[in-house]
Amino acid sequence: MQIKELLEQKPEGQQVTIKGWVRTKRGQATIAFININDGSTINNIQAVAEEGKIDQEILKKVTTGACVAIKGALVASAGSGQAVEVIADSIEIYGTADETFPMQPKKHSMEFLREKAHLRFRTNTFGAIFRIRHALAFAVHKYYNDNGFFYLHTPIITASDAEGAGEMFRVSTFEPNKAPKNEAGEVDFSQDFFGRETSLTVSGQLEGELGAMALSKIYTFGPTFRAENSNTTRHLAEFWMIEPEVAFYELEDNMNLAEDFVKYVINYALENCVDDLNFLEKRLLEEEKSKPQNERSELSLLEKLRFVVENSFERLTYTEAIDILLKSKANQKKQFQFPVKWGIDLQSEHERYLVEKHFKKPVILTNYPKEIKAFYMKQDEDGKTVRAMDVLFPGIGEIIGGSQREDDYEKLVTRVKEVGIDPENIWWYLDTRKFGSAPHAGFGLGFERLVLFVTGMGNIRDVIPFPRTPKNAEF
Ligand code: ATP
Ligand code: MN
Repeated sequence: MQIKELLEQKPEGQQVTIKGWVRTKRGQATIAFININDGSTINNIQAVAEEGKIDQEILKKVTTGACVAIKGALVASAGSGQAVEVIADSIEIYGTADETFPMQPKKHSMEFLREKAHLRFRTNTFGAIFRIRHALAFAVHKYYNDNGFFYLHTPIITASDAEGAGEMFRVSTFEPNKAPKNEAGEVDFSQDFFGRETSLTVSGQLEGELGAMALSKIYTFGPTFRAENSNTTRHLAEFWMIEPEVAFYELEDNMNLAEDFVKYVINYALENCVDDLNFLEKRLLEEEKSKPQNERSELSLLEKLRFVVENSFERLTYTEAIDILLKSKANQKKQFQFPVKWGIDLQSEHERYLVEKHFKKPVILTNYPKEIKAFYMKQDEDGKTVRAMDVLFPGIGEIIGGSQREDDYEKLVTRVKEVGIDPENIWWYLDTRKFGSAPHAGFGLGFERLVLFVTGMGNIRDVIPFPRTPKNAEF
């Protein structure tokens, strides 16, 4: 039985076996209290080792970090803090851990834990984060499955550089210094593994659209790679993205889907991750205490999550948002680092002003200038804007980017050429507009940004088991 189950058993002196890692041991020679965790829950189970029953030599090896199996009787606990405990009859040591084990029971900085990322799973904080991450991933699949979507696996290796020119990781079997050259002295990719230049995908959307033009409602949920050198607390070089794509959806339907979906998965965590969220909430409150009064957040973690689930997101156009920013005190006092005017790509400081200061709730911005958005977005009648939508969250900024797609063949090809893409390279994508084109829409949710929001953590490196960032791929 896992510890999570054991803790829920009625204590009647029955024989049980606990297997897990020692978090702490305290007590004297006559009696020792050992706290064991197996990751099934944030809660430890306490084993009591009484003198005479357990060999002192074995008990010496029961140290923080060691892995043990303890057999004994499950009884009601005499101490406070736990309902049940195990009176040990025998202890088997699977693996010892000496005092150099880095996860000793004291406060560690997040930076320290990132350097020990191979062992940080054994802390309460990371246990909680990765259980919540799992629950959210499960909720994503449940939501789409329950709503008639099909999970489509789009490729990780791709030959299309439609979105992220210059921000892709190359995939090649060439030896770095021995790549064959053509007559012009350029690398001859026709001799490479795929007979052409290939990279790791930056998005499954283009392929997702092909699926939606037949299955109507699809979603992808897979790894995504961006070689952008942005060392922020919100960017990873390898992250997971969820991308629904739906035939017959227009921008409004797309917004409704995004809002309903995000609320569903957050609510799922609220209902299914109670212990872990309570732990993270307490942790955050502690952290807040060290901040100056005016920088502390008004809502606790759970209040913030409930607030998002219970209130509707504010919806407005990019043009309306620019007006609000222009009229804002922050702008008049020249507090924005990047000046505001129609046509700019909104910076994080602008997004956060709208979400955190002005509306104080999640915001969906729509109808952005076409120049700052991707070529595939449906053009508005005014010729200036496109049917884009970004969902902005407090503390995070952009969590979702999406749009209604251009379904008119001529308009799409014209735009493709305007932005400098050779239509030949994405002939298969353009074909969907040639044969049975349909209005459709979709979006991408960065999974780690969602986990960041739900766990209340401050750095995206701490919500993915093995973060990939510039100059960092150790573990
Ligand atoms: P940003 O402006 O924050 O860099 P973006 O405009 O590049 O985001 P999109 O290309 O629209 O983002 O990708 C869709 C979603 O994927 C984003 O809303 C975000 O949640 C997530 N995302 C994008 N880039 C990253 C990254 N480097 N690391 C983690 N998540 C990301
Ligand atoms: Mn980006």
